[in-house]
Amino acid sequence: MQQPTPPKASVARVDAGAPQRPAYACSHCQACGFNNFPPADVCPKCWSEKAELQDLSSQGVLYSYTTIGSADALQYVGYVDLPENVRVFGLLNTKQAPVCGVPVTLSAVRAPGSGPCFVFDLTARQGA
Ligand SMILES: [Zn+2]
Repeated sequence: MQQPTPPKASVARVDAGAPQRPAYACSHCQACGFNNFPPADVCPKCWSEKAELQDLSSQGVLYSYTTIGSADALQYVGYVDLPENVRVFGLLNTKQAPVCGVPVTLSAVRAPGSGPCFVFDLTARQGA
């Protein structure tokens, strides 16, 4: 199957127009329904330019995680799967090692300078 080629003018526009986008959003392709994170003007799946911004859910599920730092200043970071079928990377607000598959809730979007940092709290399961 031949892959469609991206329109060159649109690719250039993606590079030029990024700064005003909200940090915690994806682009939703109106042609094929694909959600892309971070948002893009052109759908990376079908190359359509009919993309609109869509807010992301604050609730997700921890897909995977790792530790960073030293033993006395350990932090957990990981990938969170959201209902919009996108996976975002963020800091996990916990002192204990989480378990993959646990529900998490977005608690903050920080802007440390080089880009947004998403912070997720581990959500207590109902009845657990
Ligand atoms: Zn598409």
